[in-house]
Amino acid sequence: MAAIGAIDDFYDLYVQVQKIYEEHKESCSGTMKHLWPDKLDEVCRKDVRKACEPLMNQYLHVFADGYDKIFANAYGFATFSFYNIKGISRADQPGKLVCREISFAEFLIEFQFAVSRVIHSWKTKTQPKYEFDRLYKEINDRVLAYISSNTIVAVLQDEDSTPVTNAILYIYQNLTSTNCYINKHPISETRFIASNTTETERIALPVHYCSKCDKHFIGEITLKLFEKKYGTFLVEKRKLTDADNAFSAFNEESRLFQLGYNVSDNRTDAERQRLLVTLLEKNMMTYFDMVRCIENNIRLHPNRPTAIAKWKRDLKHIGDYVLTTKGQH
Ligand SMILES: [Zn+2]
Ligand SMILES: [Zn+2]
Repeated sequence: MAAIGAIDDFYDLYVQVQKIYEEHKESCSGTMKHLWPDKLDEVCRKDVRKACEPLMNQYLHVFADGYDKIFANAYGFATFSFYNIKGISRADQPGKLVCREISFAEFLIEFQFAVSRVIHSWKTKTQPKYEFDRLYKEINDRVLAYISSNTIVAVLQDEDSTPVTNAILYIYQNLTSTNCYINKHPISETRFIASNTTETERIALPVHYCSKCDKHFIGEITLKLFEKKYGTFLVEKRKLTDADNAFSAFNEESRLFQLGYNVSDNRTDAERQRLLVTLLEKNMMTYFDMVRCIENNIRLHPNRPTAIAKWKRDLKHIGDYVLTTKGQH
């Protein structure tokens, strides 16, 4: 399940490495006005290794088979650089160099290169003639295979002929106040295919479906999260603003708490989201109930911006999870 959060994990690492460089730059600026990029790389490398090691281990299976522990050693990171330096040949400025921090995509390449160096050093212990380029290509193929089998396909590919869902999408401010919930109708999760304003793209949305009423619906907060990312959806929407049912909202909040979910402790996004996915996988809670609880919490606690940000990231994550595991009903 780690796959869904991989990009988030690596992006966090990228930001962490950026901070390492900023801190070193600050602490060094007293002694030296300008630190050369290669010098700064050298100064930061140890901290960078320390920062990278947890994810190297967490995703080791993506890079290679048959190992269970990897160290971010000095050999692996010997060429790591957080800078991209290019020579610009201009008549008026011969030999001019332009230097910038690497992008996130470039950082992923540096990371993969460091991991490849470590694995290559293991490989050559038993097969001294194993070429680095060969190993690097093997690792790259594994990473590509991993990405293609784990990418969330919210945007449907051209070859996917799933038609746009021909139904009304009901939007609820409060999922607890839906008749389907109050009357205990059978509610399941499904994909709702919608086109957006680009006219060519079809987007999958994680929605709730009541088989008794033949009704597709979604919480307003979740819909907004997806529209923010993919643009406005061209579907027939019915917005429903039933009166809130604060009492059952409170009950649901405590139920999710009882199952161990909490945004006020120091748990990371990955830890919280792993718990939510586990609850779904083990059928301990339905997608509908989970979304209902979290959206309730967001509405009932408008003065907790940090908690709201976490709840929204969690909503997006479990929505992504549903899209990777569910077809259309
Ligand atoms: Zn119903
Ligand atoms: Zn996520």
